[in-house]
Amino acid sequence: MDTVSHPRLRVRVLGSGTSMGVPVIGCRCPVCLSDDPRNKRLRSSVSIEAEGRHFLVDCSIDFRAQMLRWPMPRIDALLLTHTHSDHVNGLDDLRSYNYIQHEAIPVYSTRYFLDDLSQRFPYCFNPLQRGGGIPDLDPMMVEPGEPFTVKEIEIQPIEVMHGKLPILGFRLGRLAYVTDCSWIPESSLTLLEGLEVLILTALRRRPHPTHFSLEQSLEVARRVGARHVYFTHIADEMDHEQTNRELPEWARLLYDGQELEIP
Ligand SMILES: [Zn+2]
Ligand SMILES: [Zn+2]
Repeated sequence: MDTVSHPRLRVRVLGSGTSMGVPVIGCRCPVCLSDDPRNKRLRSSVSIEAEGRHFLVDCSIDFRAQMLRWPMPRIDALLLTHTHSDHVNGLDDLRSYNYIQHEAIPVYSTRYFLDDLSQRFPYCFNPLQRGGGIPDLDPMMVEPGEPFTVKEIEIQPIEVMHGKLPILGFRLGRLAYVTDCSWIPESSLTLLEGLEVLILTALRRRPHPTHFSLEQSLEVARRVGARHVYFTHIADEMDHEQTNRELPEWARLLYDGQELEIP
């Protein structure tokens, strides 16, 4: 019997697209030309509300547009999976939340990605440039597999492989968010067992060196026994409606703006 109490969670999909977004600039494929709003994919990110706490997972290059459409009331922490441009290039616009909250925003990731962040955005971490028009961020180092707590909400960082690069997925209660991944070590698969909802990367049907294909992601979802799996970081090769028709009932593509509740 499950005796641990899990936080009630609400997820808002801020972006379900791959690094180029969908439509891709200049592309004339059927998905890029489609009128279906669920085929319009901003760069991958979600917000998660847990018992009144608000978490942003990745700060996508579309962050400003995402916050105008699906505003978060505040950001208690940024959980950073890795520092590829599609996942961090909205960073400057976090300053809007500094102005709202009058405090620094903690950024949780591994030592490697926090170092990389300070090299990509040196002005954000230079004390001489504090204040003014730059985001005020508090780097918070986490170790994969070692849970941490933000305002009483426990978060499990889970190491997954993005090609040869170890990156992070995050688990809160019975929800896990795992993007940009092409292989998951056995010890991390164990940490993904017992999920109500798994949000997992599925780039396209064809294999790719640094991202799971749809079939590989389905296999992972079966292996960990998630009740529901939703795919994200989707390229323009997969039409929303058509792909969903081919999937088992417990598996679906995500779409931008979608809300999921985990009771
Ligand atoms: Zn990505
Ligand atoms: Zn990436």
